[in-house]
Amino acid sequence: MTKPDAATPARISSARAEYEALRSRGLKLNMQRGQPSDADFDLSDALLTIVGPQDIRPGGLDLRNYPGGVAGIPEARALFGHMLDVTPEQVLIWNNASLELQGHALTWALLRGLPASSGPWAAQKPQMIVTTPGYDRHFLLLEPLGFELLSVEMQPDGPDLEEVERLAAGSEQVKGLLFVPTYSNPGGESISREKARRLAGLKAAAPDFTVFADDAYRVHHLHASERDTPVNLVELCREAGHPDRAFVFASTSKITFAGAGLGFVASSAANIRALSEWLNAQSIGPNKIEQWRHVRFIEGYPGGLEGLMAEHAKIIAPKFAAVNEVLSAELGGRDGKSELASWGNPRGGYFISLDTALPIARRVVELAAGAGVSLTPAGATYPGGHDPHDRNIRLAPTRPPVSEVREAMTVLAACIRLASEEYRAGTK
Ligand code: PLP
Repeated sequence: MTKPDAATPARISSARAEYEALRSRGLKLNMQRGQPSDADFDLSDALLTIVGPQDIRPGGLDLRNYPGGVAGIPEARALFGHMLDVTPEQVLIWNNASLELQGHALTWALLRGLPASSGPWAAQKPQMIVTTPGYDRHFLLLEPLGFELLSVEMQPDGPDLEEVERLAAGSEQVKGLLFVPTYSNPGGESISREKARRLAGLKAAAPDFTVFADDAYRVHHLHASERDTPVNLVELCREAGHPDRAFVFASTSKITFAGAGLGFVASSAANIRALSEWLNAQSIGPNKIEQWRHVRFIEGYPGGLEGLMAEHAKIIAPKFAAVNEVLSAELGGRDGKSELASWGNPRGGYFISLDTALPIARRVVELAAGAGVSLTPAGATYPGGHDPHDRNIRLAPTRPPVSEVREAMTVLAACIRLASEEYRAGTK
């Protein structure tokens, strides 16, 4: 810890006075929910009425009845296969929530083993590599299923591949990697093509080492020109001689409605057939009417999927810009880096990751809550909710209006200033 200097008490009292002034405003702002705003939802309201009784038999298939297969209706497989850059045979369309599909694929691997496995993973004390900082729900999914989690650092161009290669080569228990390949949660990083190729060709001790890519933000660019380029892990794995290695998940949760919509998964046609068999034991089929109304709505939207995502970007990009502007003005520094904190300026996705310079993230979140600003709990971006450095805070600017994002960032900056002074003075 830095030794307090003579000016420290004056600096603390000025930081505290600033904080108290903000606290007295009685704010009630929420910056922790990675949810679309109502304006985002409004873009898709036509979904609610787009399919009627006259339109319930596309291609002669009556969507109201059971038959149709477990992998989804052909029109939806074509549309979302295109989004994920695979053929319709390489994609399965399920119900709301890609997380549920991730759970199905992992449970299948645990109980039966994947096609390349010698047996069920559950009997092999399985370990899964995850990236940190990362998505808390990945940890919450994997840990209760019995996976031991091995963390590797998320770098600006994707997971620390040297570490992934070392871990995967070291033990047959290491069954795979679960990560977000495009505009990651929380840092907004995207994997480079070079790293994706290395991952596809990686030499693993386990013959069934699997890449679980949660591509939730693949089409969520914030700008028309400056964009990260999503990779095609299914194809890269095929080229590398591991055709069944990758599962790529996505959903319409942040394209249309988060509380409805579709989850889907791309993989080799063989894996999709095998996963279909597994799902077929549990369901006669997914909600085909939801699939059809998504096809009709997205294909009929001006500019299609790209057009719809451009409308979302118009709503969301100013919120991301507000975070960057206010933090830069309040904390000083340039390009997302000041003496007190550093933060990302991603080109897409739903989150911004901030690291305090000092180990004060918990205290900052506590102070912010005291001033009426709720932030994602500190530590949530690490397995077990434990950030070993106590520095990372996930910011979720999409749900509140821009004015609230600005206010919340002003409070956050004041909390960072106060917590930094407290830490330096050794009072916290
Ligand atoms: N994956 C990531 C990386 C997310 O950030 C989120 C939501 O925040 C989800 C998945 C949830 O997706 P779904 O609604 O399809 O389960």
